[in-house]
Amino acid sequence: MTKPTTYVPYYDDIVEAMAAGGCAFCALQLVAAEKYIDSLLWESVNDPRIRREVSAARGFCRNHAWLLVRHGSALSSAIIYQDVVRTAARVTAETPAEGGRRSLGQRLRALFRRQTPPNDALLAALRPQQPCPVCTNAELVDRYLSETVLASLAKSNAIIEKYRASAGLCLHHFGTLLAHTHTPGTRQAIIDAQLAVWSALDAELAEFIRKNDHRFRREGFGAERDSWERTMALTSGPPPPSKSSRGGVTQTS
Ligand SMILES: [Zn+2]
Ligand SMILES: [Zn+2]
Repeated sequence: MTKPTTYVPYYDDIVEAMAAGGCAFCALQLVAAEKYIDSLLWESVNDPRIRREVSAARGFCRNHAWLLVRHGSALSSAIIYQDVVRTAARVTAETPAEGGRRSLGQRLRALFRRQTPPNDALLAALRPQQPCPVCTNAELVDRYLSETVLASLAKSNAIIEKYRASAGLCLHHFGTLLAHTHTPGTRQAIIDAQLAVWSALDAELAEFIRKNDHRFRREGFGAERDSWERTMALTSGPPPPSKSSRGGVTQTS
């Protein structure tokens, strides 16, 4: 089985991503997803087991599916998604829709309560039966990223200094890193670094809000002008990647 290649980040990659702004783990996860999809499109698309995995996931998740749109990817994407749509059609044709047997009153009550009908086999069968393969790979990459930071931290505090000077990790990846940290001292050092980042961000937001007051508008905005967007990325995560401009080994476009 030709499994798509998993990206293993180096220490230097993490340091570079920390210096570039935004959550370093999010940035490297995008690199990892791009590499994974490249490998899947060009090396693994003819492996029926990979296509079965994508079909079982009912396609890639919304965050990752659109990374398939890149130069030269049309044929491979069509082959993968033909399997997905055929699976959806087969499941729908073969599974009885039990919800249809309920009375009108029951269906209306479920609708008003925004409930999906219980034990509806078709709805259950249409849901992803396993996670998106890129998401599964992302969990592995998160582990590598965390282990690389922790291995470096076991030797020196240099990475923590870089963490403090960076835009910090997003909420999701701060949690990821803490989940892999089992030494109380290390855990506290990471927490302190993230608290310092949030404190600086809070001050920038306060400044941005202050300058929106008509009495101070003439001061003009400085670096805090996009602090609200940076805060959104650091809490909710970065905006979903648009159509990829990278990758794209030539095939039929
Ligand atoms: Zn992140
Ligand atoms: Zn995904």
